[in-house]
Amino acid sequence: MIKNFIDKNHYEYLEEASLRKYNTYRVDALAKYVVFPHNKEEFASLILALDKEKYKYIVLGNGSNVIFNTTYYDGVVILLTKLNSCSICDGNITVGAGYSLQKLAIDTASRGLVGLEFATGIPGLVGASIAMNAGAYKSEISSVVESVLVLNPNYEFVLMHHDDLDFSYRNSFFKENKGYYIVEATLKLEHGNPAEILERVSKRRVKRIESQPLDMPSAGSVFRNPPSMFAGELIEKVGLKGYAINGAMVSEKHANFIVNKGNARGEDIVRLIRMIQDKVQEEFGVLLVLEQIIVN
Ligand SMILES: Cc1cc2nc3c(=O)[nH]c(=O)nc-3n(C[C@H](O)[C@H](O)[C@H](O)COP(=O)(O)OP(=O)(O)OC[C@H]3O[C@@H](n4cnc5c(N)ncnc54)[C@H](O)[C@@H]3O)c2cc1C
Repeated sequence: MIKNFIDKNHYEYLEEASLRKYNTYRVDALAKYVVFPHNKEEFASLILALDKEKYKYIVLGNGSNVIFNTTYYDGVVILLTKLNSCSICDGNITVGAGYSLQKLAIDTASRGLVGLEFATGIPGLVGASIAMNAGAYKSEISSVVESVLVLNPNYEFVLMHHDDLDFSYRNSFFKENKGYYIVEATLKLEHGNPAEILERVSKRRVKRIESQPLDMPSAGSVFRNPPSMFAGELIEKVGLKGYAINGAMVSEKHANFIVNKGNARGEDIVRLIRMIQDKVQEEFGVLLVLEQIIVN
């Protein structure tokens, strides 16, 4: 029994827990268990025990790119927030998968290091952000990743280098290969002019505030931009800005965002996504590819 395992090994966990504060859509699903491993060894032992019992689970960072498409997740949600070590020595950074990307972006910018200014508005953790190859303003996290320490499907920790990680637009090795989890990353940043770096950070912050519905719960851009097009523009052109299914609404401010205007269920968000895809496909012959992850 998985409960015996987590009790016997003194894991920090919650039972029958609300997931509302663990996903940025603030969808109020319940999970059978939410577990917070305190180090990579606890994480590896937990994954091994879950696999042995064929128990359902998902590994998450800050839940800022997921949609819980269920009111009850009958399994274990593993949150990596406690793997949050960080050491910055010149431009060489060793950081746990559970460290906040925004915090790292501020830490490095204030030390005069160039490369993560784009990330100050991305509310993810470092591990997931590398797995998603998070990016903005024509920059991506892949450009500063040297290597990652990974738990592989044989329950071993292996070092994978940048060139093994198949990075592309919002994509990496981790999206295509299940059972590999980043536990730590080594990044390399260059020194720059501190005043210019802080100015870039502040310009990007203003741009986000002006263009994104940051006052409402969301999970960022819903769809990838099709080659040389903007998903938001296509959605606006089919007249869906402001359209809602129960609490899930296409943002009035940015049509590539779905916001929770109150008590949205994952199911509402997913129905709205399907509807947008159908309408855009019908009118423009373009299939919008989902950037967010649906958790069933
Ligand atoms: C307001 C807002 C603005 C945003 N702006 C941007 C933006 O500009 N650019 C952008 O790219 N994204 C943006 N996002 C989306 C999101 O913040 C990023 O994709 C972020 O990198 C996800 O990190 P997370 O920790 O929340 O991941 P989660 O949502 O917790 O997980 C995402 C996926 O990664 C997997 N995963 C989690 N941890 C690991 C790990 N350690 N190893 C391997 N796989 C793992 C999970 O299983 C899941 O499939 C935005 C979101 C919001 C709410």
